[in-house]
Amino acid sequence: MKPKILLTNDDGVNSAGLWAAYEALSPIAEVTVVAPATQQSAVGRSISIFEPIRANEIVHEGVAAYAVGGKPTDSVIIGLYALALGPDLVVSGINIGENLSFESIMTSGTVGAALEAANQGTPAIAFSLQVEDQGDKFDDPRFHRQSFAEAKKVVRDVTRTFLNRKFPSGADVINVNIPSIVRGGYEVTRLSDKLFQTGVERRLDPRGRPYFWINGPLIEDAEEGTDVHAVRKGNISITPITLDCTAAAAHEELQRLFPGEGGREKGKS
Ligand code: MN
Repeated sequence: MKPKILLTNDDGVNSAGLWAAYEALSPIAEVTVVAPATQQSAVGRSISIFEPIRANEIVHEGVAAYAVGGKPTDSVIIGLYALALGPDLVVSGINIGENLSFESIMTSGTVGAALEAANQGTPAIAFSLQVEDQGDKFDDPRFHRQSFAEAKKVVRDVTRTFLNRKFPSGADVINVNIPSIVRGGYEVTRLSDKLFQTGVERRLDPRGRPYFWINGPLIEDAEEGTDVHAVRKGNISITPITLDCTAAAAHEELQRLFPGEGGREKGKS
């Protein structure tokens, strides 16, 4: 029996990247697509709890899929709990645009879906393809002009590895980023801190009122060993991600600052 994969994304159910992943995975698994009906990039792991969620059955080039009127995280929850798909693995992507650094993984809907799946007990892999021009992320994702050929090989290769074996202990999500032109091989990386130099552009509307665009150039250099550095070099970055964000290194000092009942008693005596 083929293993089961729930495939989702954040660029929406019509994205060429999602269907490239479907083509890569359908020979090796029973793949069910449950993805947002519309573009949901940069919504992170947000969840719709103030409104109902529709999951409409659609057919994309002969393949049945579910278009979810919500977020990537909603799609995972619907797939797991409403459709009861019971997948062996959740795959999110292929995202149009790289998801590198803490900055990106905490805002990315692609990674958000994977984090949700992992938190619900299903291992998850996120795949993102670097864009040659950042503006390409804002075009209609049905017609992305870059080839997914190399990315499809990576999706199949990495996914097959984890259909046959568990994630290394401590890893909840595997975050994979494919350079637009692959010049090297796989590189296991750690997260860089930032992908963009955050900036804001102030403009005036036709009535003279200011409005703002969050915008900034990409960071081109990052430390050796980071995901940003690997993809800039042309390597395929593989980063293990953990859900537990507790800063263990800060524990002792915080305990001294906030000793609690026992500590206060000791202080009195
Ligand atoms: Mn996206």
